[in-house]
Amino acid sequence: MRRLLIAGNWKMHKNKAEASAFAQELKGKISQLSENVDIAICAPFTQLDTLIEALGDEKRVLIGAQNAHYEDAGAFTGEISIPMLKEVGVDLLIIGHSERRQYFGETDETVNLKLKRILKEEDINPILCVGESLEIRESGEENSFVESQIVAAFKDISAEDAKRITVAYEPIWAIGTGKTASSQQAQDMCKVIRQKISDLYSDAVSDEVIIQYGGSVKPANAKELLSMEDIDGALVGGASLKVEDFVGICTAK
Ligand code: PEP
Repeated sequence: MRRLLIAGNWKMHKNKAEASAFAQELKGKISQLSENVDIAICAPFTQLDTLIEALGDEKRVLIGAQNAHYEDAGAFTGEISIPMLKEVGVDLLIIGHSERRQYFGETDETVNLKLKRILKEEDINPILCVGESLEIRESGEENSFVESQIVAAFKDISAEDAKRITVAYEPIWAIGTGKTASSQQAQDMCKVIRQKISDLYSDAVSDEVIIQYGGSVKPANAKELLSMEDIDGALVGGASLKVEDFVGICTAK
């Protein structure tokens, strides 16, 4: 039985005082979560230590970063490496978010390099983002496009390591737009992703992989999305910035 993982992606939001206030408020609400739900906050680098200090002892709250370089060190001005994040104590790392692909030159190849590097660390797990643009959806090519992202991302990754990858299906047209994919559209693509992972490995592997939906998830639509068979959680942007909304999503199912 797969657990649910609801992960907040704060993007480039919140200063230290705001992160600390969020953590304290969230701490008081963790007892509201049902037994099969884990939650995560993926914060800007500079707020990770604040969150780890405040929430690090809470077993069901994971702290994540939103990007890292695939090299361990070197002349890469402005970048952060995976060993640096390990030292800080992160549990999770988002890889291949569409905003990184769109604005910062992230490619299927760098996504694969980053995944392979993260998986060398036993205690950091990746959230791999995939998803099509509106143009691709309107052309009817969305399944093959997302399947090709999955094939490229999982290249040269063992079955044991593949099980550690959470996949977030995030249609670009639904991110930050208020336009959510219907629960059926989201379920259909999550099923396509699970089938592709099964083709690459086996049913046993694909049964274990957590697949999230992301794109304008809010308390009002979370229950329906999370009740779909192949949706095991959510990656939440805007609605993860307020504790009330985030907890509303985490307790929706
Ligand atoms: C995201 O940034 O991953 C996301 C899904 O954003 P939003 O929930 O704001 O659409």
